Amino acid sequence: MQEKECPVCEKGKLVQVEDILSEIDGYVFVEKGNRCTHCGEEFIPEEEGERMIKIARRLKLWGEPLKLYRKLSHSARGIVLRIPSDLEKNLGIKGDEEITIQKVGKKKILIEVGSSR
Ligand SMILES: [Zn+2]
Repeated sequence: MQEKECPVCEKGKLVQVEDILSEIDGYVFVEKGNRCTHCGEEFIPEEEGERMIKIARRLKLWGEPLKLYRKLSHSARGIVLRIPSDLEKNLGIKGDEEITIQKVGKKKILIEVGSSR
């Protein structure tokens, strides 16, 4: 693959990644694209973005944003993230599921519920 220079910082190279989190109408999708090795700027090809919009429409996710803001809190054993009750209901979480936590990009984590290891 040909390496492209980052148009934002003009220092880094764009590398192909498959873990870009992008937000469509409050929903977060994992997409393929390019990420700069220097500044971390992410670029999603137009066709990939359109593909995600189509998927969102098909899933009838459109117009039902579920982006929620919460603060982390501390317990004796570490940092705690409480799952908002709206999300709990929407995802049908009972509270005893196994989850996978994945670091994506620079400042994002992806939490997958009930996934097999
Ligand atoms: Zn850059």
